[in-house]
This record gives sequence, structure tokens and C-alpha cells, in this order.
Amino acid sequence: MKKKFKISLHTYILIGLLLGAAFGSVFHISQYELEISSKASSEKINDWKEFRFLSGDSILRSFDGESQLGIIRYFKTLGDKKLKESLIAKVTLKSGEEKSYAEIKEITKVKTIGVLIKPIGDIFIRLLNMIAIPLVLASLIVGAASLSDLKHVAKVGGKTITIFMFTTVMAITFGLVAANIIKPGHYMPAETRDALMQTYQEEALTKVQQNVSVNIVDFFVNIVPRNPFKAMADGDFLQIVFFAVLTGVFLTQLPKEKADPVINFFDGISNGFITMVEKVMYIAPIAVFALISATVAEFGVRILSTLFMYSITVLIGIAALMLILYPTLIKIFTKIRVRDFYKALRPVMIVAFSTSSSAATLPLEMEVAEKKLGVPNRIASFVLPLGATINMDGTALYQAVATMFIAQVYGYDLNMSQQITVIITAVLASIGTAPVPGIGLIMLIIVLKSVGVPEEGIALIIGVDRFLDMCRTVPNIVSDSFTAVVIAKSEGELGPIKPD
Ligand code: ASP
Repeated sequence: MKKKFKISLHTYILIGLLLGAAFGSVFHISQYELEISSKASSEKINDWKEFRFLSGDSILRSFDGESQLGIIRYFKTLGDKKLKESLIAKVTLKSGEEKSYAEIKEITKVKTIGVLIKPIGDIFIRLLNMIAIPLVLASLIVGAASLSDLKHVAKVGGKTITIFMFTTVMAITFGLVAANIIKPGHYMPAETRDALMQTYQEEALTKVQQNVSVNIVDFFVNIVPRNPFKAMADGDFLQIVFFAVLTGVFLTQLPKEKADPVINFFDGISNGFITMVEKVMYIAPIAVFALISATVAEFGVRILSTLFMYSITVLIGIAALMLILYPTLIKIFTKIRVRDFYKALRPVMIVAFSTSSSAATLPLEMEVAEKKLGVPNRIASFVLPLGATINMDGTALYQAVATMFIAQVYGYDLNMSQQITVIITAVLASIGTAPVPGIGLIMLIIVLKSVGVPEEGIALIIGVDRFLDMCRTVPNIVSDSFTAVVIAKSEGELGPIKPD
């Protein structure tokens, strides 16, 4: 009899990822084309050798033929609509022909099918994010409440935070060691540094102006929400976590007949969302295809080669976490096979990589923890939402490497005590990083400020941030699942692992 060959969902997702990368690299966006849209029309230009922005007779800024991104970003950051429309763009093509454009509304890259399919991926990420906030709230309330009494919450909470802090500090140390050995900043020629600073300076400035607070007292004060509904509307995960844990903890103080209906209500919500995720995952292969295609098509691999040594340093650090730190700890603290652990987590890791968001990955992560890793609901629903918010090993490692890299490019070598400051501030910065794409880069500013490295230096690394964000989000979530398994084991509640 013929055996039915069944392909699992994660294999489809992986195929989607690989095909998406291939599709994006075939239909990649040209680095030498621009689309200039004015009120009346829109025109594509390529092969320009000089591009100047004029206001009246004076030249505001001039760019060469390599500066596609610089032109787009400069125009975007002009902000004022009137100013934009009063500008004239004078373009000299390589053929010698001169063109001029007035009343410009927008300057963009010329999009290809590789990027135009991105909305499919955006719907997927929106669906997961839509679930994430109410899920964090509901499951943490249930998680904290089901730890039955204050003493138990303090015990499990204490163990969880200790493991989170330990792995985060280890991750930062790995990052610092890798950056001290490889010294990626020493490989960057001054011309490349200046070119990157010029291309990304406006974008870096808008990030620096977000003015992240470095005041440690403010940091803790801000964790307490004034209004939990506003915290949810703003997606402020730290405040949501604080509110949910407190609510859950104090529900345990009520008589059972009063607490149970509330706990059951939130438990129903939490389970409902997890079921919803199961269905949402059916579109994952195609969504991942679209997301990866758009990223590869838009960012290409050229920038990776410019920042090769820096990217490699981050990747080596991440590999050390995934291949040395977690396996060793899994072996020491649980009896499960490392291979089975990673096998069960395959779909979770792929979704984390493609969405760059721990929050978007959380619903699937909870489902896998309960159904495959053998973590009971009451532990998964406490440890995982907490971890997705405050435990980010990949981000912390990346922030340490980035700080060392920028310092090295600027010619500072951070001494031992400065590197210890990096450990402390990167722990805080990673806790404060929201579990959504790109925030690790903004919180990096805290670490840079703490050791006096110029914040504008983030201009050097913005170009590869999207790719490194995808990579660092993977250990961010693996570390949470690992902690959930260890806590379940230490509570004597770890069920059998079912990796397939
Ligand atoms: N994207 C990361 C996450 O969601 C956060 C970051 O490092 O930007 O885990």
C-alpha cells in the first residue's frame, strides 16, 4: 500500500522563506533608479551622475550617482510640505542630458513585484500583533493567578527573573568578547564610514531625537501605568505586564468563588487566541514568502558586504548563544535532548526570524510550549509573555557589539570599566526594548550615551539593522522557551517533549 507522505507546516514555512529569498533577489530593487512624483506626473530616472536640490538659485544639497538612499532620505526628512514643493531638483544624467523637476511630492525607489507583495506579509504580522496584546494581558493574569499564592508567585517569579538576567548578562558578555577579539570597527575604512554617515545621517537624527531616557529612576517609574487601557492602546508591553501580574497576584487573595469567574474569563480569552493562532498559521508559508522577498528585494545584500565584519561579529555571538549557552544549560537543568528542543521550536524560530517581532511570535510560542515542549499552561502563560517583554538576549548581545563597533570606528577603545557599564546598561536597554521590529536600535542610544560614544554613530549600522533584527529576535524567543522549560522542570511539572 502507498504510504501517505505528509509535509508539516514548518516545512512549508521554511520553503516559503527560501523561495521568498530567491524571489526577492531576482526581483530586487535597483540601487540606481528613482521615481520622482510631482502633482502632475511621475517619472523614473536612472543613470544620473549628479542630483541637486535647489531653492531659488542656491544649492541646498548635491548628491552623486551612488546616493539613491541619501536622496530619498534627505527629501523625506525635509518634512515641511511647502518647502518640499518649492524645491527644484536638477538632475544631470550620465549621457550629459539635464532634467529638472518642480513641485515634487515624493521621491522613492522604483518598486518591483518582489516588494509589491509585502502587504500579504503585513496582514499576517498585523493578525499576530492583534492577538499579542490581549493575549499577554489575559495569559499573565491567569498565569500569575494560577500560581495560587503570593509566596508561590514570588518563588516562580524570582527564579524566572534570575534565569532571564543570567542569560542576558551571558549574552552581553559573549558580544563583548566577540567584539574584543574580532574588533570589527577596525576594518571600516574612513571613506566607507563617511559615506554611511552621509546616507543615514537624517534617519539617525530622527531616531536620536526620540530622546530615550537614560535616567534609571524614570525607567522604573515609567513601568507603572497611569492608565492600563492607554498602556494597551500604546502597546507599552512593560506597563501591560506590570498591570497583568499585579491583577493576577491579587486575584489569588480573593475568596475562590469571587476569583474563579474572573480567572476563567481571562483563561477563555487566552485559549481563544491560541486557537486563533493555529488558524492564522495556515497563511504563514505565503506570508513569510512575501516578507522575506520584500526584505531581500529592498535591502539587497550589498550593504551586508559593507558591514560584513560587524554583521559577522553579531552573528557569531548569536551562534554562540544558540549552540553553546542554551544547549549547555538545557543539558544541566533538564534532561531533554537539545535536538528535540530545537526541533519543536522550528516554526517559532522561523516566524520570529521573518516577523522580527517577539510579540508577534508569542502566540505561536505559547502554543508550541504547551503542546510540544511539555510546559504546563500555568507556567507557559506566566514565563513566556514576561520573557517576550523583558528577556531579550539577542538584542542585548547586539547592543553590546554595536556599542563596541561604533566606538572602534570613532577610534575609542572602551576600557574594562566602560565595558562593565555596557553590561549594566545593555541589560536595562534590552528590558526596555519593546518586542517589535527595530526598537533595539533606538534603545541602543541608552548604552551609547552611558559610555560617551556619539549617538549619531547609529547611522553606521542602520543599513543592516533590518537583517540583524531578524536574527536577534530568534534568540530573544528561544531564551524565553528555554526558561519556561527549566522552570517547569524545577517545579516538577515538565511533561514529555513531542518534537514532531
Ligand atoms: N525585534 C526585537 C524583538 O521583537 C526587538 C529588537 O531588538 O528590536 O524581539
